[in-house]
Amino acid sequence: MTAKPASGILRLLRPDILAMVGYEPIEPSDVLAERLGLSEDQVAKLDGNENPYGPSPRVLEVLGSFDTYHRYPDPEQRQLRGALAGYVGVSPEHIVAGHGSDEIIDLLLRALLAPGDAVIDCPPTFGMYGFSTRVAGGTVIEVPRKEDFSVDIEGVRESAPGAKAVLLASPNNPTGNVLPRGELDALLALELLVIVDEAYVEFAGESYATLVPQHENLVVLRTFSKWAGLAGLRAGFGIMPPAVARVLMHIKPPYTPNIAAEAAMLASLEERTEQQRTIQLLVEERDRLANKLRQLEWVRVYPSEANFVLCRLDGHEGRDIRDRLAKRGLFVRYFDTPLLHDCIRISAGLPEHTDQLIDALIEIGGSRAS
Ligand code: PMP
Repeated sequence: MTAKPASGILRLLRPDILAMVGYEPIEPSDVLAERLGLSEDQVAKLDGNENPYGPSPRVLEVLGSFDTYHRYPDPEQRQLRGALAGYVGVSPEHIVAGHGSDEIIDLLLRALLAPGDAVIDCPPTFGMYGFSTRVAGGTVIEVPRKEDFSVDIEGVRESAPGAKAVLLASPNNPTGNVLPRGELDALLALELLVIVDEAYVEFAGESYATLVPQHENLVVLRTFSKWAGLAGLRAGFGIMPPAVARVLMHIKPPYTPNIAAEAAMLASLEERTEQQRTIQLLVEERDRLANKLRQLEWVRVYPSEANFVLCRLDGHEGRDIRDRLAKRGLFVRYFDTPLLHDCIRISAGLPEHTDQLIDALIEIGGSRAS
């Protein structure tokens, strides 16, 4: 980015940080709506894999009547770690909760990496792995996924001697496919910390969390952002070997997650029936969306076990389709990378969002091959 030497106060900052390309986050719906001169309810936000149904009524009730916002949360997260442990089926010493799973990714990488140490990243995948590695002073070894987006296990094996960890999302964002058990076992046999990010597992099925106590080198990440509708509160956690959990508890800022996120996580776990219903609605909507997209001959849909679908657009640039949808108040995610330049990712939303999106795509590209 900056080839010329930093001047002024920037001379004091790390040159590698000054040169870093930032993570490209999504924008909030009020900003998107204002840009288009629309009201917020005219915007269909299908770019962040958020849960359009929000948290369960029980969570809203608990947050509305909570009476200890003026106190710091328990820095040992005793009650929370107990509840999270019960949810995933391990004991509490395996758990560390954080300000979103983003915080756990950041803490793990800061605990692992001295300057110049490397981690393996398998693009296309969640951008925070590479981003947090660079912020921590580490370097990224890229082992791209294969054409069907499965992990190149041989490639990871070859790169393993020069790396400390491999980060893999399952289901993967933005491709939607899961890491099969046999491939996980092959990775666990390597001398690496294997970090499996299960942000979307509630939409997919089986979690690998219960395998953590049997392995010295497995960490599983989970979040309440997607299934529980708590993205804005920032509520995530990791399941890891107790020795690693102790180190993370030692280096983390003492009072994350905040007390509202903690109360909301506990309430979500107490009352899961309503949330289970919205998970089911989103899974059904994902499948309905994928089926409708498949009827457009210029759209190739990848199978997904998450709350979104990735599609490749025959004869179109992803950026162009993203921009044309945005003009109609429909926001989807485009990734400016060579592997995904003709793709867009669409989150499962409300049924009317799916219908509007499909109508707009037919208007833009027709229902036949272009
Ligand atoms: N992991 C993956 C694979 C994700 O897609 C996301 C959210 N986009 C996260 C982690 C972040 O989760 P959180 O909101 O808990 O930080």
